[in-house]
Amino acid sequence: MLLGAIEAGGTKFVCAVGHENGTIVERTVIPTDLPEVTMREVIGFFQKHQPDAIGIGTFGPADVNPKSPTFGMITSTPKQGWRDYPLLSELEKVFPVPMGFDTDVNAAALGEAKLGAAKGLDSCLYITVGTGIGAGALVGGKLLQGLSHPEMGHIMVRRHPNDSYEGKCPYHKDCLEGLAAGPAIEERWGMKGDKLQEAEEVWELEGYYLAQAIAHYILVLSPKKIILGGGVMKQEQLYPIIARNVQEILNGYVSLPEIMDRIDEYLVSPGLGDNAGITGSLMLAYEAYTEQNR
Ligand code: ADP
Ligand code: ZN
Repeated sequence: MLLGAIEAGGTKFVCAVGHENGTIVERTVIPTDLPEVTMREVIGFFQKHQPDAIGIGTFGPADVNPKSPTFGMITSTPKQGWRDYPLLSELEKVFPVPMGFDTDVNAAALGEAKLGAAKGLDSCLYITVGTGIGAGALVGGKLLQGLSHPEMGHIMVRRHPNDSYEGKCPYHKDCLEGLAAGPAIEERWGMKGDKLQEAEEVWELEGYYLAQAIAHYILVLSPKKIILGGGVMKQEQLYPIIARNVQEILNGYVSLPEIMDRIDEYLVSPGLGDNAGITGSLMLAYEAYTEQNR
C-alpha cells in the first residue's frame, strides 16, 4: 500500500508518498501560489505515484468537521485566492481514494504520537512557534476537534511589565501569537529571530510568554507529552527557559513528577524533526484507508 501526504502551508506545500511505518519514498516541495497553480503541481505529483489514500494536514482556518457541507475547505485565510477554497473536494475529484483531512498541527501531533517523541502515548500536544502559533492535540487517542479546530495560539497572556511592544495579531494585537510568533520577535527587536541567538533577554521574554500558554494547556488538557516545534524553537535555549517558567507558574499545584522532576522529558522537541507534519499526514492517510476498509 502506498500512502500519500500533503502538508499544506501558507508558504509551501510539502507532498510525499510513503508507508505506514513513516518511511517516505519521495517528497516534493511546491510553493504556495494561487490555488490553480499550486494544485496543478500537487495533482501532478500524485498522478505520478497513484497512492491508495491521501492524508492532508493543512494551514487554517479550515473546516475539519466531516459532517459539515464545507468539510475540507480552507475558510477565512487572508492568503490570496485560498479563502473558501475546497482543498479536499478538488483532490477528491481527481483521486477516488480515501482521504484524511485535519489541521497541520493535529497531523503533527498524530505523527509524533505514532512515530515520534510521544510514541505509544494516547495523549500529546504539538505546538508550533513559527510564522504563527498553533497547537494540535491528541486526546484519548483521538485528534481534538470541536465546533471547528482549536486555535490555541490566540489565547491571551499576561504582559511582561517591561514589554511595551503592541503586538502583531491582526485580530487581537497582543494575544500569544501577536506577542511571541516569529514575526512579533522580528518586529519587537528589529531583527529576525535567527540573528538574535545571543540576546538573552529576547529568549527570556519569549519563554515567559510561551510558558504561560503551556501552563494553560497543561491545566486544560493535561497532555502526557508536549512537543514544541516550528522555526522559533530552533533556539534550543528556549526549552529550559520555558520549563523553568512553567514550573514557576504552576507553583507545585500540578504536583506530578513529569512536571516537578522530569520536565526536560515532558517538554521536548519533535522526535520527527521537521518531518512531524508530513509524517502525520501519512498517518492521516493510513487512518482514512483503514477506516474505509474496515
Ligand atoms: P512556518 O510557520 O511559516 O511554517 P517556520 O516554522 O519555519 O515556518 O517559522 C518561520 C518563523 O520562524 C519566521 O518568523 C522566522 O523568523 C522564525 N525562525 C526561523 N528560524 C529561526 C531560528 N533559527 N531562530 C529563531 N527564529 C527562527
Ligand atoms: Zn490573535
